[in-house]
Amino acid sequence: MSQGAPRARNASPYWWEAAPPKALPPTPLPGKLDVAIVGAGYAGLSAALVLARAGRSVAAFDAMRPGEGASSRNGGITSGTIRPSFARIAKRFGEDVALAIEAEGKVAREFVYDLIRTEELDCDFRMTGLFKGALGFDEYETMARAAETLSKRLGIESYAVPHSEQHGHIGSDFYRGGTARLDIGGLHPGKFHAELLRITLAAGAGVHGQTPVIGIMREGDSFRIQTGAGTVEARQVLICTNGYTDRAAPYLQRRLVPVRSRIITTEDLSPDLMKRLMPRGMMMGETRQLGYYYRPTPDGRRILLGGRDASRHGDPMGPTLRLRRGLAQIFPELEGVDLSHTWFGNVAMNRDMMPRLFEHDGILYASGFCGSGVVWAPWVGSRAAHRLLGADAGRSALASRPPAAVPLYRGDPWFMPAIIKGYALQDQIAMRRAKR
Ligand SMILES: Cc1cc2nc3c(=O)[nH]c(=O)nc-3n(C[C@H](O)[C@H](O)[C@H](O)COP(=O)(O)OP(=O)(O)OC[C@H]3O[C@@H](n4cnc5c(N)ncnc54)[C@H](O)[C@@H]3O)c2cc1C
Repeated sequence: MSQGAPRARNASPYWWEAAPPKALPPTPLPGKLDVAIVGAGYAGLSAALVLARAGRSVAAFDAMRPGEGASSRNGGITSGTIRPSFARIAKRFGEDVALAIEAEGKVAREFVYDLIRTEELDCDFRMTGLFKGALGFDEYETMARAAETLSKRLGIESYAVPHSEQHGHIGSDFYRGGTARLDIGGLHPGKFHAELLRITLAAGAGVHGQTPVIGIMREGDSFRIQTGAGTVEARQVLICTNGYTDRAAPYLQRRLVPVRSRIITTEDLSPDLMKRLMPRGMMMGETRQLGYYYRPTPDGRRILLGGRDASRHGDPMGPTLRLRRGLAQIFPELEGVDLSHTWFGNVAMNRDMMPRLFEHDGILYASGFCGSGVVWAPWVGSRAAHRLLGADAGRSALASRPPAAVPLYRGDPWFMPAIIKGYALQDQIAMRRAKR
């Protein structure tokens, strides 16, 4: 253990030790395609898989190595939840839409679990369940009622964990009880992406890594896609660029704010300590705006904790220090723990924080996963593919009008530091008000 600045051996994702994104051997660009997909993360590959298996000529183009975006950097928690509360969605879109979206979360999780099972994707998936901690006893009461509703409404096994029994779920006194739901688990995101890539290529889709799309021009009833390696003609276009959207998709860029999310990983902890801190090996979360998500690594030796990173340029030490303080706040035994890895990636936020499948000017977009894309991205990607095929399975409660443009925004989220400061203030107020 070290005091002061954390030593972190590695500034690239822990996941890349076992599953680094691979540079694919360059292959000649196809002249003509049925469908061109921009982005080869979970969403783009999931769409390419469906389209290739339906006999379409399809290729996904990625500016980086496939998977090098968020899809190999994330926490691997199969949450598939939506950030706004049920009540908030119902107020804005109506109760029917809120119910449909909630039900679709369940179907989407099952879709991903089914994909892993039936395709035999080797990605360390375990259905561990997720524990969410309450900041105060009043919040615990509200969360306990919500767990009961979730059980009743969707048949999802979920229950309240009172403060007195908390240590059976988490070796921490920071929370005042919490809830557990058993339909969420953890996977190895890098392996999940690599396996998705394996079956997508085997299905006959083209995947072109390190091939940025530079421009998309409409020409009659098809599109001319200009890439870093040449030009391709495609009948249909699907954009799956989420938190890495650039000027090649200006309509989306004005509607989607990239936000950094960072993860730290501890050095190996003793089996006794791991058993005490995470007795059930569950995924963990909480309700603070700038709160943390955390979990054991699949081998059960380390803790991996993630949260917001307010930096916008370079790779400063401050956000890593903040996360390590957060880890010690939850688990005081880990004060000064050495870190093995610290890294960040981009998530993408819409103004209303809802993932989306939408069309504009003949181009289809699947994005806005707001930090919950392990389930939503493969699911919405597959819905997008069915929609391009003209099939009924393309229906989705998330298919709606495009998200609103963000005022005064053209791709540089200059306002994020102020928003994050606002969240920090809200968290301080919530902590002060919480009945602890
Ligand atoms: C640190 C971190 C932790 C997270 N933890 C979780 C979690 O625990 N659970 C969860 O559900 N979700 C989590 N997420 C979110 C999840 O990882 C994403 O929502 C999901 O991976 C999005 O997949 P995607 O395919 O839409 O986008 P990405 O995987 O980000 O892929 C987009 C791709 O588009 C490419 N691209 C962009 N522009 C162009 C262009 N012009 N030409 C060609 N290619 C282009 C990029 O190179 C990139 O590879 C986390 C994200 C991060 C960053």
